[in-house]
Amino acid sequence: MPALPPPDPASPGRRWMPAPAVRASCWLHAAAAVGVAAHPPAWPWALGGVAANHAAMAVAGLLPRNRLLGPNLLELPGGARRRGEVALTFDDGPDPDVTPRVLDLLEGHGATASFFLIGRRAARHAPLVRELVCRGHSAENHTHRHPAGFAALPFGAMRREIAAAQDAIADAAGPGAAPRFFRPPAGIRSPLLDPALSAVGLLHVSWTRRCFDTVRRDPAPLLRRLGRGLAAGDVLLLHDGNVARTRNGGVPVVLEVLPPLLRQIAAAGLRAVSLPRAMPAGEPDAPADADGAGQEAAAAPPAPAACASR
Ligand SMILES: [Zn+2]
Repeated sequence: MPALPPPDPASPGRRWMPAPAVRASCWLHAAAAVGVAAHPPAWPWALGGVAANHAAMAVAGLLPRNRLLGPNLLELPGGARRRGEVALTFDDGPDPDVTPRVLDLLEGHGATASFFLIGRRAARHAPLVRELVCRGHSAENHTHRHPAGFAALPFGAMRREIAAAQDAIADAAGPGAAPRFFRPPAGIRSPLLDPALSAVGLLHVSWTRRCFDTVRRDPAPLLRRLGRGLAAGDVLLLHDGNVARTRNGGVPVVLEVLPPLLRQIAAAGLRAVSLPRAMPAGEPDAPADADGAGQEAAAAPPAPAACASR
């Protein structure tokens, strides 16, 4: 495993603290090197230990909900749970066909959400990004090009991918609405991701439940999956980009799932909110933030006159 790079002191990001498993991995590499230097015939054991460690790290990276490789938000913190909040998150947008209809459905139910945007799509559809922010939602970072091999990128390329998306989405979203959260493509990550996110100042978010709406075309099982055990603090993952279409009618399946899901959330006495609204600045049990940028702006109500749809 390559040595983990230190955080860039010139960056506005948070300070990187390696997770215990990452620290143990670094120690194992150092011990293997020292062991081989002191006793060269032991190299097969050292090599085997390092290879086993790489395999364990690779498996950890394929499990999106584990916390071995660094901080990972799976559910909302205590304050949001006590307020009965649920976070709706949408990946892979913005999509000029689907996203506006998702925004209308959310508005019809008084809900807000977080959109994990692909940077170059955000640049191409900047007015749509501005619109979703204006309507009280948050724009978050889901890489610039959504590369399938994102988790295999070297540190520099990974950081550039994240930073390019951050710039594109922040430009499109407007002042005070830069992303605070990051989700990698398919939730797959490497030990290099946490230091890269620290350098840019982003927090990694997974989910409590997802519904595979990019491949499954029948809304009923998707709804059952998202609604099973629905509780305060849940982070639900859907897609407004790359979303599958229903067999009958070819409707983006998220548009069929979302209305009954929102009704179910309301019937359970819960409230769907964006991640910044669920974790306002200064709340004691909210995860540590980079610099608080964007929290107040994202939590503030939108200015209706500025929204294009109004
Ligand atoms: Zn994605």
